[in-house]
Amino acid sequence: MRPEDTICEECGHRGLQESLEAGVRVLECPLCGGLGGDDEAVNRVLLAREAGERGFSLDLFLLVRELEACRGIRVVTAEDGDAWRGSWPRVEMEVDRKGLRQLSFLLRTLQIHRRELELSWRIELQLSPSGLLVHTLRPDFWSPPGRLTPEDLERAERDVSTLARVVSLDRGLDWWVSIS
Ligand SMILES: [Zn+2]
Repeated sequence: MRPEDTICEECGHRGLQESLEAGVRVLECPLCGGLGGDDEAVNRVLLAREAGERGFSLDLFLLVRELEACRGIRVVTAEDGDAWRGSWPRVEMEVDRKGLRQLSFLLRTLQIHRRELELSWRIELQLSPSGLLVHTLRPDFWSPPGRLTPEDLERAERDVSTLARVVSLDRGLDWWVSIS
């Protein structure tokens, strides 16, 4: 079917337009913004939009979602890295007793997949500015502002994508499920 013959499922308008968003081609309704076309592509665009609303890159959002899906873990805040400010990507989590066990599984995942990661990652216990005890997942070293290069950040970003994938994988495995 030609794009101009497709009908918007949201508003019934005929004539969706091809657009490129989040690195994939989808059909978009010029009237209401409704999406059409390949399900996987539509799903990716919806996720990217939700990520944008929460102020995350898509990869960071995928990781945050995996962590939020672990019982006992609450993601307090997360940030993409910023080479200019010299900050690495990080996810701050508040955990209860169940969440603490989940973190031990997460540490195990970091260890199992360390060769797939370009940087070394760790989980650090910190007091947040508001006095909350948080566990922060981040690369294992600090870099003073101006010293963190765009290449460093790209490595960290690729790791965030890898982490989202391996956490998703490992959460479904016996050793993670059986003890939780
Ligand atoms: Zn529409």
